[in-house]
Amino acid sequence: MRNDPAVKLIDSKGLRVDGRRLDELRPIKMEVGILDKANGSAYIEHGKNKILAAVYGPREAHPKHIALADRAVVRCRYHMAPFSVDERKSPAPSRRELELSKVIRESLEPAIMSEYFPRATIDIFIEVLQADAGTRCAGITAASLALADAGIPMRELVAACAAGKIEGKVILDLSDIEDKKGEADLPVALLPKSNVISLIQMDGSLSDEEFRQALDLSTDACRKIYEMQREALKLKYHIVRDGTEDKEEMAEVKA
Ligand code: ADP
Repeated sequence: MRNDPAVKLIDSKGLRVDGRRLDELRPIKMEVGILDKANGSAYIEHGKNKILAAVYGPREAHPKHIALADRAVVRCRYHMAPFSVDERKSPAPSRRELELSKVIRESLEPAIMSEYFPRATIDIFIEVLQADAGTRCAGITAASLALADAGIPMRELVAACAAGKIEGKVILDLSDIEDKKGEADLPVALLPKSNVISLIQMDGSLSDEEFRQALDLSTDACRKIYEMQREALKLKYHIVRDGTEDKEEMAEVKA
């Protein structure tokens, strides 16, 4: 229930349930190229969220009638594993997963140079292994890395992070309890170089001023996440060049 007075989300020191400041991101780790069979892949831990993204393509469109003459068709499936939340979730696609698959695809499409691959498809799979709010954003961040890992030409990477409001205060990067008990959630995806917002949704309500604050917080966070994405990509090629698999070093790409 939103805005539940029985639950204290900010303590007397101004810290949140998990000890973060109002404008602090959760710890983030990213790893690129972790699946052998997919053309591109990435894994992200964003707070307690654990998400895998895999990309196939560009490959010949199948069934053929979905092919477009002037560009590749981008398809996306966002799926939450039955064990990703406290109560076992049905493995069948829910309305929420269908909506998220659509908005995630739309947030990535402006970055993909699909015009280079007419009559082809690019398939993006996002598997949420563990969920703790902000999975659409972490999924976008990971999928963008998986697309780059697949060698798909991109205008730039897409980074995403939510902001919101709890107990009357605008905060960055809501955890599950903050999402459930708070007053607003504003997921944002950003193409940081061109400054294009490719996803913005709002659940709950914010005043004009709060909306501006939340948007500033989330776009600043997207820029930080973008730097982490660049490091994660560089690390993969650094490791390939060295011929070493230094897991310790991979784990260092974090906030
Ligand atoms: P996002 O994960 O992008 O924030 P929502 O706002 O829809 O998307 O969901 C917030 C959180 O609620 C999820 O990350 C997850 O922790 C939890 N959640 C979503 N769907 C379910 C479900 N079917 N069962 C239990 N928890 C869920």
